[in-house]
Amino acid sequence: MNVAVVGGGWAGLAAAIEAVRGGHRVTVFEAARQWGGRARALEVPLDDGGTVTLDNGQHILIGAYRETLALMRAVGIEPREVLRRLPLTLRFPDGQGLVLPEAPAPLDAAWGILGARGWTWTDKLSLLKHAAGWQLRRFQCDDSLTVSALCEGLAPTVMRDLVDPLCVAALNIPAGRASASVLLRVLRDGLFGPSQDGWGASNLLLPARDLGTLFPEAAAAWLQAKGASLRLGHRVQSLSRDGEGWAVDGERFGSVLLAAPPWEAERLVAESAAPTGDWLAQVRSLAHEPIATVYVQDGPALPLPMLALHSAPDAPAQFVFDRAQLGGPPGVLAFVISASEGGVQELETRVLAQAGALGWRVRPLKTVVEKRATFACVPSLRRPGIDVAPGLFACGDYVDGPYPATLEGAVRAAQAAAARLNPAARTAPSAS
Ligand SMILES: Cc1cc2nc3c(=O)[nH]c(=O)nc-3n(C[C@H](O)[C@H](O)[C@H](O)COP(=O)(O)OP(=O)(O)OC[C@H]3O[C@@H](n4cnc5c(N)ncnc54)[C@H](O)[C@@H]3O)c2cc1C
Repeated sequence: MNVAVVGGGWAGLAAAIEAVRGGHRVTVFEAARQWGGRARALEVPLDDGGTVTLDNGQHILIGAYRETLALMRAVGIEPREVLRRLPLTLRFPDGQGLVLPEAPAPLDAAWGILGARGWTWTDKLSLLKHAAGWQLRRFQCDDSLTVSALCEGLAPTVMRDLVDPLCVAALNIPAGRASASVLLRVLRDGLFGPSQDGWGASNLLLPARDLGTLFPEAAAAWLQAKGASLRLGHRVQSLSRDGEGWAVDGERFGSVLLAAPPWEAERLVAESAAPTGDWLAQVRSLAHEPIATVYVQDGPALPLPMLALHSAPDAPAQFVFDRAQLGGPPGVLAFVISASEGGVQELETRVLAQAGALGWRVRPLKTVVEKRATFACVPSLRRPGIDVAPGLFACGDYVDGPYPATLEGAVRAAQAAAARLNPAARTAPSAS
């Protein structure tokens, strides 16, 4: 079948690879002049006239990203060569916080909690008690609960040093507004998922190359070698029904894998006037959360590639990354502000003050605010499914599935959508 893929982010590229593997003739349309979408490389000018390749935003993968890691391998990227592994670590600049030891799950979590620095025995027991309760209930809870409600009674130190940073890192939304059931699913898969190739599911895998070379560029090269047609810089203007198939800007295809972000998928589907049941209403009900990354230069070498930070309105970053330990130039630090508030200038000023309070004299390099970085993963959310209309399948991080907006969620949704091209797989349920 002739298949169009609209969007060349991680989902679109993953969908195109699956479609090619399924024996289809594939054309990928990408509006931008580069691959990768919300996880892409970014050229940043330096004072000396040179440039450095950074990212549109600092990303973290974890060992539980089974499908993403397999896909990287499939296009010739060996994860061990491009990702730096750390046991789950939430250490603060003052040395306090949690580091899981190298041990099989769930012993690593239990030892890590018992050894956490800066926590009293009451704090540790409070977390162990809550964690045992979550495990007893198989990491499931009422879909309407927020993370704050789930953690009622948990010691405030544990909430501040563990749950709050984990929640914004995984779901990009503060605990008071975040879906408890999605966080529990991430915790279950992260803490109890199978280890792969010696990597624990909870291991943090930090990109040690820019995001473009991590997967999107190799994926595009793989697709080209397999004969796919790649249309970089082509923003699809219209989709319309054409007999049994679809016309994409007037070009005829048997099926379309719609891998544009939700707001653009919504525009294209609405204008196509295809009957879509609840799909349009569900995609319109999604709200979005920003993420800001403030890159600075002249920073110190950090004790770890990534540290957690105590955030407050005047110290907004929750994490800082030492890019020198991740294949970047010395002195470049990336401060990450999940669910950020305010514009570039304001955030930069507040982050410079936050760095100053830690004794780091740094200079701004580049600030990127991605206003619609992720959908808001709130309680009781009904996400749109894969099936939009006959022959039109949605894929992307927002499509119904087990995870919040993540690379793994995008890849799994793409694989599930591409499986719909094969009629025998039409009953394949979801991206889970
Ligand atoms: C700053 C930031 C930090 C993040 N951190 C993490 C993290 O640590 N870990 C993690 O797992 N995830 C993280 N994420 C989320 C992750 O990046 C996304 O979930 C993922 O990239 C979404 O991929 P996608 O392919 O579904 O969508 P997108 O990446 O949005 O891809 C959609 C593509 O469609 C293209 N497009 C749009 N309209 C059209 C059109 N009309 N025609 C053709 N093409 C079109 C766009 O240009 C884009 O390339 C982060 C995101 C951001 C922004």
